[in-house]
Parts: sequence; structure tokens; C-alpha cells
Amino acid sequence: MDLSLTPEQEELVRTLRAFARKELAPHSRDWDRSGEFPWQTWRQMGELGLLGLRMPPAYGGQESDYLTFGLAMEEIARGDFGCTYGLQLAGLAGEIVGANGTEEIKKRWLPPTARGEEVIALALTEPGVGSDAAHLACRAERDGDGYLITGEKSGISLAMVARSAVLFARTGVGGGARGVTAFLVPLDLPGVSRSPMRDMGSHSVGRGVLAFDHVRVPDSHRLGEEGQGFYQVMRGFDYNRVGIALACLGAAQISLEETMDYVKERRAFGKTLATFEGVSFKIAEAATHIDACRGLCYRALCLADRGRPHTKESAMTKWWAPKLAVETIHQCLLFHGHYGYTDELPFEQRMRDVIGLEIGDGTAEVMKTIVARELMGRESRPY
Ligand SMILES: Cc1cc2nc3c(=O)[nH]c(=O)nc-3n(C[C@H](O)[C@H](O)[C@H](O)COP(=O)(O)OP(=O)(O)OC[C@H]3O[C@@H](n4cnc5c(N)ncnc54)[C@H](O)[C@@H]3O)c2cc1C
Repeated sequence: MDLSLTPEQEELVRTLRAFARKELAPHSRDWDRSGEFPWQTWRQMGELGLLGLRMPPAYGGQESDYLTFGLAMEEIARGDFGCTYGLQLAGLAGEIVGANGTEEIKKRWLPPTARGEEVIALALTEPGVGSDAAHLACRAERDGDGYLITGEKSGISLAMVARSAVLFARTGVGGGARGVTAFLVPLDLPGVSRSPMRDMGSHSVGRGVLAFDHVRVPDSHRLGEEGQGFYQVMRGFDYNRVGIALACLGAAQISLEETMDYVKERRAFGKTLATFEGVSFKIAEAATHIDACRGLCYRALCLADRGRPHTKESAMTKWWAPKLAVETIHQCLLFHGHYGYTDELPFEQRMRDVIGLEIGDGTAEVMKTIVARELMGRESRPY
């Protein structure tokens, strides 16, 4: 499989690398400390077309290929990990709403999201249900020409700044995946309330709890047919997980590059740190693992771009890359000695940020269950 980049993709990488260095990295620590949502940067990302990468062009998007989306995730993460949530959530909403929304909904919600003026959250997880996402408790009950939504969504990224959410609720009588339906729910409707969660990382993005108490939405806010919601979001997760993996690798790669610069300068026992094999071999190993993992990510996205199955490859990247990134950034922090432990250097923040996506969008255990199922068939499934 040819994994080389097109001239346009190479140009995009150059542009975004400069954008991340000049516009994101200098502010990343302040965003982390203040927890303030960077609206102005969201608009800049909108101007660059980053928030419309997976949206239809008729509604302000680019509908770019999946590999381009992954490259953008990797480059943005080099400057600020939190900003990659913009790409992935606008991407998921763009795909689900773009493919299943009514004309009215698409026109209302997609263009301002692509411009970075509004945010659409993705509300799947609940207080009692995360990995086992097919067994949601949140209900949408028929009410004339609409639905009444009741339930709670927990751990939702961008919950405090989002204007609306793609929400998954049970419409069917059965308990499984077939009873789940997606809705576009404006978050200023009567009966919606929200509260923030105090996270260890990605402070500027933040997560929160969204509660829905008999919230009425008209039929036009249903996304696609009843019973399709679970499959819509899982299709999105298949490519988005690779985007997350590449974001984690972006954070690991920049950490490694900064560490290589440092160990070439820092001296101990009369020599630079780079001359000690205890240091240089670990750097060589991390670079090897990152390269190998990036290759798997590109292959998964190239398969997606060719319309070929990529569930297995996607799940492989989603357990491997976040773990590799945490380990690499941790080692980079240690190579900076006592300076590495301060919040003046970016390593502790990057570690806190990346750990979140060891969990978000599916944990390592769930990813390995998917890989095993794809390799060995349903006989390997524990449930
Ligand atoms: C940073 C972050 C951002 C998030 N953003 C969003 C968002 O925007 N929207 C949204 O809907 N959700 C979001 N989530 C929620 C996330 O998707 C869930 O946390 C995740 O799916 C895991 O669910 P859970 O937390 O309920 O863990 P649980 O399902 O309770 O799992 C707890 C532990 O048990 C393990 N486990 C569970 N089942 C198995 C099994 N079969 N075999 C082995 N081990 C198992 C898990 O791996 C995990 O270690 C986010 C989470 C984080 C941390």
C-alpha cells in the first residue's frame, strides 16, 4: 500500500506545523492554567478549514480524505492537545449530522461549527454506561410530532461551551444497540442543565455532565431513522480513533524532538547526555515505536479512504498510541531532570492531556476486545 503523502498533504503539514508552533504552543500552558476556552483560536482553526474537514462542502466543510484529517490531528497536537478535540468533535458531528440531518438542521448547525463560532458536543456516555455503550438508559419517548428526552450524559467533552449536542437515546423497547437513536439537541432548551467536571488535564476543553429532564425536540431533530444511532456513532469512531492515535503521537513526537535538543546541550560527568547510551538508546527506541505506530495509523486511514474495512487497524492504533505517548512523554520528562518536573516545561501537561484519551473514545481493554474479535471471530467475545 502506498503511504506517501500528496503534495497538498505535505503543504498542509508544513502550514499546520507553523500554525501550531506560532499560534498554539505559546498559549497552551496559559489555557491549561486558566481553563479558559480559546474561542479565538477555534475561529482561527475554522478559517484554516480544520473544523470542517469531515463536513459536506455545501455546509461549509471540506469533506477531505481521512488521511488528511489524521495529519491535521497530529500537527495540531504538537502545539496544543486540547485543540485536537475541536477537529475530532466537529468531525464526528459533521459526519453524523451531514449524513443524517434534515436540511434545516444541517443549515442551522454545520456552517457556524465549521467556522469555529459554535461547538456541537457528542453525548453518548452516561453515569452508568461507558464501554457498554449499546445499553444506554437515556430515553426519547414519542410525544405527538416530537420526542421527550430524559436522562443524563456524563464525561462529555466541551459540554460547558457547546450550543448543541448529538445525543444518543433509547427509542426502542429492546435493551441493545438496535434501540438507540441519535438527535440533535440544542442545549438552551427548557429542561437541559449542565455542570462541569474537574479533570486532571485538557482543562481548556473541559468535560461536563448534561442532564435532560423531559426535553422536547421535534421530529426534525432526529438524525436518521430510529434505531440507527449506535451504528452511526460506531462508524465515526472507526476513523476518529485513528485521529486520536495520531494526536497522541504528535504530542509524543514534539516531546522527543525537544528532548533531543536538550540532551545534545545538557552536560553531566564532562559529556553531553546524548553521548550516554542509557539516554540515546531510549530515544532511538521511542523514535522507532512512534514511526511504526504512525505507519499503522496511516495504513488504517488509507484503508478508510479506499472504503475498505479498518475496524481492526483503528482499534490497534487506539490502544497502542496513547500508551506509547504516555510512556514517551514520561521518559522525556525524566531526561529533563528536575526541570522536567515543573510546570514551566510542557511534559507534565502533555502527560495529563494524553492520559485522557487512553480512556476517551474507548479504553485499551475495549480496543483489544475489538482486535481479538476481528482476528478470531465472535468466539473470542466475552459478551
Ligand atoms: C478525556 C475524556 C473525554 C471524553 N469525551 C467524551 C465525549 O465527548 N462524549 C462521550 O459520550 N463520552 C466521552 N468520554 C467518556 C468515554 O468515552 C468513556 O469514559 C469510556 O468509553 C469508558 O467508559 P467508562 O468511563 O464508563 O468506563 P467503564 O466502562 O466503567 O470501564 C471501567 C474500566 O473497566 C474496563 N472494562 C470495561 N469493560 C471491559 C471488558 N469487557 N473487558 C475488560 N475490561 C473492561 C475498562 O477498560 C476500564 O478500565 C470521555 C472520557 C474521557 C476520559
